[in-house]
Parts: sequence; structure tokens; C-alpha cells
Amino acid sequence: MSEPAQPSHRRPGPRSAEWFARAAKTIPGGVNSPVRAFNGVGGTPAFIDHARGAYIYDVDGNEYVDYVGSFGPMILGHADPAVVEAVQKQAAKGLSFGAPTGLETELAELVCSMVDSIESVRMVNSGTEAAMTALRLARGHTGRNKVIKFAGNYHGHVDALLVNAGSGALTLGIPGSPGVPEAVVADTLVATYNDLDSVAEAFKAHGDDIACIMVEPVAGNMNCVPPVPGFLEGLRDLCDQYGALLVFDEVMTGFRVHPGCAQAHFGVRPDVTALGKIVGGGMPVGAVGGPRDVMETLAPTGPVYQAGTLSGHPLGMAAGIATLSQLRDGSVHKAIAPQLDKLLAGLNERAQKHGIGFLTQRVGAMFGMFFTDAEQVSRFDDVAACDTEAFGRFFHTMLDNGVYLAPSAFEAAFISHAHDDTAIERTLDAADIAFATLAHP
Ligand SMILES: *Cc1c(COP(=O)(O)O)cnc(C)c1O
Repeated sequence: MSEPAQPSHRRPGPRSAEWFARAAKTIPGGVNSPVRAFNGVGGTPAFIDHARGAYIYDVDGNEYVDYVGSFGPMILGHADPAVVEAVQKQAAKGLSFGAPTGLETELAELVCSMVDSIESVRMVNSGTEAAMTALRLARGHTGRNKVIKFAGNYHGHVDALLVNAGSGALTLGIPGSPGVPEAVVADTLVATYNDLDSVAEAFKAHGDDIACIMVEPVAGNMNCVPPVPGFLEGLRDLCDQYGALLVFDEVMTGFRVHPGCAQAHFGVRPDVTALGKIVGGGMPVGAVGGPRDVMETLAPTGPVYQAGTLSGHPLGMAAGIATLSQLRDGSVHKAIAPQLDKLLAGLNERAQKHGIGFLTQRVGAMFGMFFTDAEQVSRFDDVAACDTEAFGRFFHTMLDNGVYLAPSAFEAAFISHAHDDTAIERTLDAADIAFATLAHP
């Protein structure tokens, strides 16, 4: 590029801006989840009209190659025909009954058949609810109170876990949140991700009262940070040594990094798994699973109360079944891997060409982009040290050139089965312009 494009903010267009202004009058900040407001990158969010395959379309008619995938669920691509048909068929039979359906058992059977550590599973309505239930279950089952979590890991907006959380909470710089009383987080111990010593210290000090470790097996809410070799294995050993439960929050990694979830990818077996995102195929579904004896601590078999008017919702179950049944044999993940190889090789090549300090990390079908000269990012401090301002400018030039990334340097990126060569070439053409713009502002 002899004349690099200025960030023109051509996209999103006037209709999105009108909707955003109108939304802000009746919705706090105009959005129903904070990161959507573009506070991390500046500008006005695109309002979406529809999406298909690898592409998302805003109300101004702009087409974007999408790497948000609804923040993770859309591994098959948008509007997958089998998923849409399953939901439409079920909707015609009635939306919700407040009584059991066979669909719940079908999805439970699929989850149990795909995830080795899960023999029994309770459906809920979101990843937040799954994490909340997993924590209550671990406390109820062990009769202990304390939980170890990691700075930069996000487990939804559960009060007790909203301490040093990732994702939107990081973007906004909220270390916890007003509205969360100190007493509620008094039993939350915060350790350092990828630092076993910090966990061992917590056990040494409080081992008798630690109910569980809650961990993202790949940290996906501080960009994409894989566990260093031995980290997850070490957590397993510490839990066994002290009689605590190991809870994997696989809301993001579940069925994304491997058909058997991150636990299959890394070969470490948790006691309890929280699921969300892909398990609902784009509908609001979460799930908690584990061995039968642990799961039967939940009501009605056990004393730990948990319930939900819309839990196991027929439309969510239908979408989840139609999604997981396509992922089960591993062919989707196998097809995605070389596409992500091409994308990341192409991004790195173009960054290098323009002399931009840039690093990618990936596990399965999730990846991260870091503006840094470092060769590896494995701790939260490394992520925080990356150039978020460069990310913001990269983000906007990509958006202007038809590529939709998550509007925050702390979010992971997601590729789908629908990202074909055309989508990837378009992404790399946009990236060439975006890196050039960074090199010659
Ligand atoms: C997205 C996410 C959650 C929260 O799920 P919601 O459906 O947004 O409530 C919890 N844990 C992890 C690891 C997540 O990525």
C-alpha cells in the first residue's frame, strides 16, 4: 500500500448509528451485554440484520466475515440449515411446557457420550448459571466454602466469581463490581493462571476449606491463553491431594477445542464441567455435568437446590442436539484445523511484512491475536502488557474492510466450519490494509 487507508469509520453506517442512539434511550448503554457497546475500541456498534455461514450482515447492508460467532456458539457457521430446521420444527409444536421432554434426555445422552468425565448432566439457561450451579454443587458436595479462581478467568457474572474477572469486566477495568458485597467474595481466593505455585500456596493456607478450583482450561476471556504444560495436571494433583473438586469452566472451550472438550484435548479429567455456548447451538443453554454421585447431590435426588422454569427449553435442546450431533465424529474439527492454519499463517506473514509486532495463539477452533513483540503470552500480566491501542486501530480498519472481530483486545476469536478459502482470503486482504495502516498511521 503506497497510500494506506485512513481509518474512515465507513462501517458501521448511519442505520446502525440511528439504532444505537435509539437503543440507548431504553436500554442501559444501548446493549444487553457490555462488550457489545464497543467501549474497548471506540465507535458505534454494528446492528445486525442477519447472518449466514461465515458472514454477518448489518442493518446498513454491510457484509462482514465474522470471527465473533456470537462469542463462541456458532461453530457450524450462522444459520446452519439442520439447526434452523430443528428449531423451526420444534417451535411449531409449542415453545415450552414446564414438564420433561425427550429432547432433554437426547441432548444429555449426546453430552455424556462425547465428554468422558460426564455421566449425568443438568441443563440451565446460560454459562453464568452453569458456573454458579457448579460452584454451589462443589460447595454442597464437599461441605467446604472456599473456591480458587484465576485472575483474568471469567465465569459469567456470578457474584462470588466476579473478582479479577476477564472479558467485558477487564475491558471496563472493573476489578469485581459494585453490588457485590465483600462478604460474598470472602471465600474466593484468586490465584495466577499458569502459575501452580500460587495455587499450592492457597492450598497450604486454606486446604481444609477449599471446595474447588474453578478454571478455564484454556483462558479465553483474556484473549486466548493456553495452559502451559503441566498446569492442568498440577491442578488435578492438588485437588486430589486436598480432597477438593476440579471444576473446568468449559463454557467457551466445550466442543470448540475438541469434540470431547478441552479435557479430551489435554487429557486431564475434571470432577465437574460447566458448559454453555456451543451446547445450545446458538440458543440460551448452559449445562453442568460430572460423575453421577456428584451430580446427584443436586435436587431432587440430593439437598443442593437448583431449578429453572425454562431449563431444558425445547428450542435450545433442539438446537443443541442438531449441533452436537454434527460435531460428534470429529470431522468438523478436522476440517476447521487447516483453515485456521491458513488464516494464522497469513496473518503472521502480513504482520511481518509491515513490521508489526504480532503474535497468534490457538487451541482447536479458537484463537487469539496479540499486538506484542513477545514470543508467547501465558500470564495475565503478559496480556495486559499488549498494545490495546494498536488493537483498536486494527479492529476498526478490519471492520471498515469487511471483517468483524470482537470489539476488545481481551476476547478470543472464533472460526467456524463455514470459513472457506474465500472468507479467509478476504480476511487476509483486509489484514494487509490494517497492518499497513498501523505501520503508517
Ligand atoms: C461466556 C462464558 C461464561 C458465561 O456464559 P454466559 O452464557 O454469557 O452467561 C462463563 N464462562 C466462560 C468461560 C465463558 O466464556
